[in-house]
Amino acid sequence: MASSESSSEPSQAVIGLAPAPETGSSALPAGTFDGTCVVVTGGGTGLGKAIAAEFARLGANIVIASRKPEHLEAGRNEIAAIGAEVIAVECDIRDPESIKAMFDAAIDAFGLPSVLINNAAANFPVPAEDMSPNAWRTVVDITLNGTFLCSREFARRHLADRSRGSIVNVGASYAWTGGPGFAHSAAAKAGVVNMTETLAVEWAPFGIQVNCLVPGLMPHEDMTSDIRSNLGGIHDKDDRQPAMRVGRPRELGYAATFLASPYASFISGHTLVVDGANWQRRSLTNPPVQTVREQMGLGDFQAD
Ligand code: NAP
Repeated sequence: MASSESSSEPSQAVIGLAPAPETGSSALPAGTFDGTCVVVTGGGTGLGKAIAAEFARLGANIVIASRKPEHLEAGRNEIAAIGAEVIAVECDIRDPESIKAMFDAAIDAFGLPSVLINNAAANFPVPAEDMSPNAWRTVVDITLNGTFLCSREFARRHLADRSRGSIVNVGASYAWTGGPGFAHSAAAKAGVVNMTETLAVEWAPFGIQVNCLVPGLMPHEDMTSDIRSNLGGIHDKDDRQPAMRVGRPRELGYAATFLASPYASFISGHTLVVDGANWQRRSLTNPPVQTVREQMGLGDFQAD
């Protein structure tokens, strides 16, 4: 009998990583977050909405915090449909007073939040030479400063209350690789990953965990047209991903609920990548170099 090595057939079929479990299932016991309050910034769209949904399925009371009424409404509807308690609070995470008011509203409704998901961020592709100072400041202000300000408020409330809590930040893998076309967001996410490590050490003695999640490509209906066109065609079974598929937003929710659960209480200062090994897929013979201007279909740089 011929060994598999001498066969002309490939010894392994390309089957990719297993699909995500069905919506509604969970690895954690039912009721893991019963009676607790979970704040999700940017919880009315995309990945934030999916994270909020997984906490809601496990019994949490949810606070959706963001700026736009239509996003707040969408988040509220999503969570209410699951049957969990939810409030949606207008909040701009750049503004410390707005964050304080959001926490006050959360406490009035459900008591002190025990979990904070720092998911809100801003992003759009632009060549660095065309990026206005205002664009740079805005993205850094929301993504990095907003994450810090929400974390600070959460920690101050828990320190005063002498109670434990868990913070889960949301990063991006270009924190480590750089992100051509996304200089503002990549730098801000590098700050978020780094800050996770600092805050985890500072606040562990007070019972506060700080971790970070790095999502891979997880397409969703709320992606802006800017981001969609930058990614090119997105397919369900994507042969440009080692996993042979893209991620499902709920898979980030599974990771977030785990990190905030009692089963992860000794994990802090960690950044967990949920991307099917995509960010490690690098070689010395990448595709030919294209400038960001070419990738975006922009003409030559024009000085003012
Ligand atoms: P998204 O749909 O664009 O959501 C961003 C959210 O942030 C929105 O709900 C927005 O709500 C909120 N937000 C923006 N500025 C805010 C502010 N100043 N104050 C309060 N809320 C604000 O993004 P996403 O694709 O779901 O991404 C979620 C997170 O995952 C982000 O941190 C992103 O960087 C990261 N990520 C995503 C992917 C992916 O494949 N989707 C990959 C890597 C990393 P309002 O407009 O209502 O304020």
